[in-house]
Amino acid sequence: MAVAGGKIDYQGGRWSVPDRPIIPFIEGDGTGPDIWRASQRVFDAAVAKAFAGSRAIVWKEVLAGEKAFKATGNWLPDETLAVIREHRVAIKGPLTTPVGGGMRSLNVALRQILDLYACIRPVRWFAGVPAPVREPQKLDVVIFRENIEDVYAGIEFEAGSDKADKLRDFLIDQLGVKTLRQGSAIGVKPMSKFGSQRLVAKAIQYAIDHHRPSVTLVHKGNIQKFTEGAFRDWGYQLAKESFAGDTVTEAEGVKGKVVIKDRIADAMFQQVLLRPDEYSVIATSNLNGDYLSDACAAQVGGLGMAPGANVGDGYAVFEATHGTAPKYAGQDKVNPGSVILSGVMMFEEIGWGAAGKAIVAGIEGALAAKKVTYDLARQMPGATEVPTSTFADAIIAHLK
Ligand code: NAP
Repeated sequence: MAVAGGKIDYQGGRWSVPDRPIIPFIEGDGTGPDIWRASQRVFDAAVAKAFAGSRAIVWKEVLAGEKAFKATGNWLPDETLAVIREHRVAIKGPLTTPVGGGMRSLNVALRQILDLYACIRPVRWFAGVPAPVREPQKLDVVIFRENIEDVYAGIEFEAGSDKADKLRDFLIDQLGVKTLRQGSAIGVKPMSKFGSQRLVAKAIQYAIDHHRPSVTLVHKGNIQKFTEGAFRDWGYQLAKESFAGDTVTEAEGVKGKVVIKDRIADAMFQQVLLRPDEYSVIATSNLNGDYLSDACAAQVGGLGMAPGANVGDGYAVFEATHGTAPKYAGQDKVNPGSVILSGVMMFEEIGWGAAGKAIVAGIEGALAAKKVTYDLARQMPGATEVPTSTFADAIIAHLK
């Protein structure tokens, strides 16, 4: 018999979570079903372990991608968006992006409809995971990337098009722009005070709640003063006005408070490699964050174990950061780590951190036992390659 569940709510900036919350999930295409089966078992076991049976998740499948197309003729049924909106928190596996267009991207649709303005990517190393640097354990950052503006606002005009030429003429004739080569493609990069400050606020609040030592504003303000530079200025201003009691600037350096600092984007790529332990929470604009997230993930052993979340106010969607790896579909072979760790983020977000902690211990245990999926086994001396499902079993066996 199906167990009745309740709805997660959000009021006054806080989640209200029943003991049996209904959480919609999209299993994903390609290897998605293999990964989801394994992940769901890990989530259920972790919740049972952490809360001694007093809490449980009531999973509700919603369709998207190929599975939705086969069942409904629609890659992204409205029903799916409505259910996620109603239940506020959802988790998804990877989805195929059909070549040739004509279909809305789920991520874009959800981002816009639910105003998921923060793309959050925690990046840390797990002992045993092969990494390209000597001291991967020194990098432990949580990247907050603005998710709506900047290049995602997507205003572009093609080289040689009427609109590009019109805009060029307008810039020269009306706005005093002196040089702009004829026939140029033109892109517009909108960044607002509102959009920047709410992202920085989320990052600072996270640092306070999780006792993180600093928030670094990453920007290219030396070149783009009024967009990237303003992001930095608005960030400092917000910290001063809204978090005065909890934050200090780098120059002030008071112990016990979150230090707000800033770095220019290109320097930051060096810093995360050369002095990774000086950084903790990072708040950055859309394009910088895109690059920095993947670079950081690569530094600790790649995207296979990198989770992500798109979060707004009262809505959150957690997801794998890799694709569907279709050549391995149905083989019970690939690493479920990315979805499982995005579940850890989900538990932390809804205040069920004990379940997340249990899973992290489980993953550390499975890695220490060297029972890992092919992608890790091929680089770990002495490791035993196990299927997706067995890796999940090993995690469950080591839950603490
Ligand atoms: P991909 O699915 O990420 O796969 C590329 C390679 O990454 C795989 O061949 C495999 O490497 C490795 N890999 C990916 N996931 C893995 C896992 N869970 N465990 C171990 N190794 C893993 O990228 P793609 O082939 O470019 O894209 C395939 C489809 O996914 C496309 O339709 C794309 O649009 C879509 N996609 C979806 C998302 C999303 O929904 N978030 C993100 C990216 C791409 P080896 O071959 O070396 O074993």
